Amino acid sequence: MRTARPLAVSLLALALACALPATAQDAATPQRPEVVAAGKAVQQQVVDWRRHFHQYPELSNREEQTAKRVAEELRKLGLQPRTGIAHHGVTAVIKGGRPGPRIALRADMDALPVTERNSLPFASKATATYRGETVGVMHACGHDAHTGILLGVAKALVAMKDTLPGEVLLVFQPSEEGAPAGEEGGASLMLKEGLFKDFKPDAMFGLHVFSSIPVGQIGVRQGPLMAASDSFNLKVVGRQTHGSRPWGGVDPIVAMADVIGTTQTIVSRRTDISRQPAVVSFGAIKGGIRYNIIPDDVEVVGTIRTFDEGMRQKIFADLKNVASHVSAAHGAKVEANVPDRDGNPATINDPALTARMTPSLQAVVGADNVITPPLQMGAEDFSFYALEVPSMFFFVGSTAKGTDPVTAPSNHSPEFMLDEASLDVGVRALLQVTLDYLETPKG
Ligand SMILES: [Zn+2]
Ligand SMILES: [Zn+2]
Repeated sequence: MRTARPLAVSLLALALACALPATAQDAATPQRPEVVAAGKAVQQQVVDWRRHFHQYPELSNREEQTAKRVAEELRKLGLQPRTGIAHHGVTAVIKGGRPGPRIALRADMDALPVTERNSLPFASKATATYRGETVGVMHACGHDAHTGILLGVAKALVAMKDTLPGEVLLVFQPSEEGAPAGEEGGASLMLKEGLFKDFKPDAMFGLHVFSSIPVGQIGVRQGPLMAASDSFNLKVVGRQTHGSRPWGGVDPIVAMADVIGTTQTIVSRRTDISRQPAVVSFGAIKGGIRYNIIPDDVEVVGTIRTFDEGMRQKIFADLKNVASHVSAAHGAKVEANVPDRDGNPATINDPALTARMTPSLQAVVGADNVITPPLQMGAEDFSFYALEVPSMFFFVGSTAKGTDPVTAPSNHSPEFMLDEASLDVGVRALLQVTLDYLETPKG
């Protein structure tokens, strides 16, 4: 549904629009010639980098060789990388020859415990130990592409740095997919270790290759883009008894069944879903061992997805309430850990920054090829940066022409396959955004 804007507001918007410089407003703004040239100049190298990272993927918080290679490449460009931030994070600053604003660009570097099923010459044959098991390792989320793209952008920016206004902080981040149990990692740890202490950017940008969008298109939206992701654990504690004599104990199975049932009313009856969607799902349930024993306890784990901090906190409180009161009605107790660890906040694009930079994305792929994707229930730890500085995160379509993006193997699939043309789109998009931001005075 669309609502008509009052005429006065439309005229005011039009007047403001005309007052802005062409690069920040005109959707038909051409791509910068230096972006076109730089894109061509680094294209093959970005493909080679990405293939290398694809062939040698490393799990979260284990990106030792990847970080080493990234730092080496940055040194080759004449930069002085800082290494070892949040375990294997690497950063470097490109100082322009002219004064200007400061921005940060982020790429994540970690891979997933997935055994690759693609037959590519550079397919991964890597294995590692994960949760005590030997697993295949694959760049199934495309972070190999992000690392290659950011190195390409770095190379292009270094080549033009004498005329570049401002400074660019390159952030090669480990552990986006989540640190192993008992470890910290990722964006939140980089911030904790002082990422922005000496370099507080005015804005930050990041991208993600995405199977649901065809190559040649970019997806971006103002405000919430990706969900907050939180996990929880509930344990209903009753009293064990013989299955033939339920009155001799307290049945945690029936109590947990009611907890699960009543939990369904949290989103459907108590959450204002006209504001933002929300999801509460159970992922595992465990209790009991034998047909005629009512066990002592039953445990469940699950996930909560939200886009609004108030709704997130309210669902935590509602779930704790349901768990404790429903359990009490059964004479059982409950141990409710909601959430049971620090989750990712929602990834929220700064509306003004996103409005300002969308024409830069349109310049690269054409106005019709910048789409507004639906809200994504998946999460991204880029969200932590966006809490600190105005930020914009966008999707770069990666599914080859001729393949249906709806049914294409998704990110995290062992058959996830990105069209390498998306690397070139990513480089040019990030470069155009960078130059437009740095060179356009704040209006
Ligand atoms: Zn992922
Ligand atoms: Zn990812």
